Amino acid sequence: MSTTTIYNFAPGPAVLPKEVLQQAAAEMLDWHGSGMSVMEMSHRGPEFTSIITTALADFRELLAVPDNYKVLFLQGGGLGENAIVPMNLMGRKPQPATADFVHTGSWTAKSIKEAQKYGKVNIAASGEATGYTTVPARDSWKLTPDAAYVHLCTNETIDGIEYQFTPDVAQETGGAPIVADMSSHILSRVIDVSKYGVIFGGAQKNIGPAGLTLVIVRDDLLGHALPCCPSAFNWTIVAENDSMYNTPPTYAIYIAGLVFQWIKRQGGVAALEQKNIAKAALLYDYLDSTDFYANRVEKSSRSRMNVPFFLKNESLNAEFLAQAKASGLLQLKGHKSVGGMRASIYNAMPIEGVQALISFMQAFASKHA
Ligand code: PMP
Repeated sequence: MSTTTIYNFAPGPAVLPKEVLQQAAAEMLDWHGSGMSVMEMSHRGPEFTSIITTALADFRELLAVPDNYKVLFLQGGGLGENAIVPMNLMGRKPQPATADFVHTGSWTAKSIKEAQKYGKVNIAASGEATGYTTVPARDSWKLTPDAAYVHLCTNETIDGIEYQFTPDVAQETGGAPIVADMSSHILSRVIDVSKYGVIFGGAQKNIGPAGLTLVIVRDDLLGHALPCCPSAFNWTIVAENDSMYNTPPTYAIYIAGLVFQWIKRQGGVAALEQKNIAKAALLYDYLDSTDFYANRVEKSSRSRMNVPFFLKNESLNAEFLAQAKASGLLQLKGHKSVGGMRASIYNAMPIEGVQALISFMQAFASKHA
């Protein structure tokens, strides 16, 4: 086996804390003397009940989720929520209702397309004119009075754009709730949950394996599902059944629970946020210091989680990726819609990984200068 240290920069499914994987491996065949793997347990038995109850409590504690919010464990991923959100919220207003979207890039584009099947969509602001390199300024948003909700993607994983502010939309919309797709930065920074109506995200970046979807929903937003909404995706029914209306993704929830405990051992979300700020600053400072590479995102909108960058000489892309891989730096290829490179530096990426990437980039640049 190679002795090269591996750093995995994948956008998701993504790197998980090694300690978590080691614990899961040790418990794989026999969870806590139960004689069963977590994958083999009834989701209603006492063993799994203790796993999901602890995971939920730890998650609530990590994000300080207020008591008037439910935390739901679902399936369907971020893209599933693009339909599940309008099916649960469009019914808040007389039909056809309107949802406002702030279009910041690849993932909001998909959300907009899906929501149009369930109601009217108003693009309140769009980053298209700038090539999705910035979050449109709050004072440019043209919101709908009486909107059913306002949808934001607070971290655009592909474009590398992140909200560095929490908008307030209540006044112009008659109190519409903000729905935030936090798939790719949840638990990476401290947030005030009370500023949002709904927060959702697929697990496969900062939480655990793909297959688990988290939804945080304010109590007063339940009870409005459209008749077309499948029961398994009706937040009210899922909440009434403590996320056990249908069989939840049990193994993914178990791993997520181990990740939540790992985050607590790191000092919680606030401590991880400081580390994430330091990691991102290191990489952006290097990118800004050289002409060999470039990041095109407006500084005030740069993501701490996903850092897309381009080689000035794009004919070197394949060589860059091959040599990075040989040096233990994996999955740096940018999304096909954007090209170039992308380093995803989620919670589980240690600062040493970012340092190793920068050293490699420096060496590659001097070789090709
Ligand atoms: N939203 C965001 C911000 C994402 O990053 C992703 C996945 N990369 C999705 C939605 C889609 O998630 P899924 O593949 O779980 O449906």
